[in-house]
Amino acid sequence: MKRRGGWQTGIAAVTAAALLTASVTMRTEAQSEFSGGQGFPYNAFDRLPAIDIDVKGGVIHLAFAPGRIELPNATIVEWVTRSAKAITTYYGRFPVKSARILIVPSNGARVQGGTTWGYRGGAIRIVLGSNANEDDLRRDWVMVHEMVHLALPDIEERYAWLSEGLAVYIEPIARVQSGDLPAAGVWAAMIRDMPKGLPGLGDRGLDNTSAWGRKYWGGAIYCLLADVEIRKRTGNRMGLQDAMRGVVATGGSHEVDWPMTRVLSVADTTIGLSVLEELHAQMGSKFVYIDLDALWRELGLKSVGDTVEYDDTAPLSTLRSSVMENASKDHSDR
Ligand SMILES: [Zn+2]
Repeated sequence: MKRRGGWQTGIAAVTAAALLTASVTMRTEAQSEFSGGQGFPYNAFDRLPAIDIDVKGGVIHLAFAPGRIELPNATIVEWVTRSAKAITTYYGRFPVKSARILIVPSNGARVQGGTTWGYRGGAIRIVLGSNANEDDLRRDWVMVHEMVHLALPDIEERYAWLSEGLAVYIEPIARVQSGDLPAAGVWAAMIRDMPKGLPGLGDRGLDNTSAWGRKYWGGAIYCLLADVEIRKRTGNRMGLQDAMRGVVATGGSHEVDWPMTRVLSVADTTIGLSVLEELHAQMGSKFVYIDLDALWRELGLKSVGDTVEYDDTAPLSTLRSSVMENASKDHSDR
């Protein structure tokens, strides 16, 4: 989830339901300062003691809202560090020089939701169950998802499919590239979940939808199609990753407001193509039929339970492996 926030624009509606209100067993008043409201509690955050975590290209200030969390701080720090590593692997560096991350304890277990802001500096609020265990953090996708939002300018709410689509698509790929997830499991999840983003009857394109599945997974389908198309046209030399690195390199982080069209044109200019703009022209304002099953076959992917079988004779099988490979391999900073 991400929230649009700015001096004039105010706050737009958010569709995801993961955000929780203050827990009743905690000091509700103190808690609401951190978990209530539409914006990030910058002033309250800055009064908390923070742990500074150095990441490639920046520093993360991590702080905890009042309340109980069973896990030791060191485990939380490790989780944040691991998540940031996925992001720096994918983007080449952390997208903002300084980010605030606020952990808000809540009843229960697991990571329960997250929101990202940028209007007074990159900031993420994560609602974490008091009883969350190490395994919950190991399996968590929310922290990396929110950090992907830091790597995209704040765009108009109408184009939330792009910000959510990028976060949904990039989060697991970044974790594969940093060694946290197996590629086969990520492909299997895409095959299982991407149909949630397909257009239904009466669909008028990505720009005109408010449906959750269409926004999150429809946006992810757009990203996959863009990734495949860029790789096809460049002989697999470049992918969506290169295009989105270009946005970050041009100063496009969540701390700035850009028109959505500028995001696409900067991304396209970086790779010397117009794939993202062309795809938006096709999919933005009208129904487009997408044959995902045919795409999986071309990529050489066959779903088998929680994993996949690869067909290395499929026409796009080389391209498929490249999607999950670390793009920095050839020019790493050793
Ligand atoms: Zn999101």
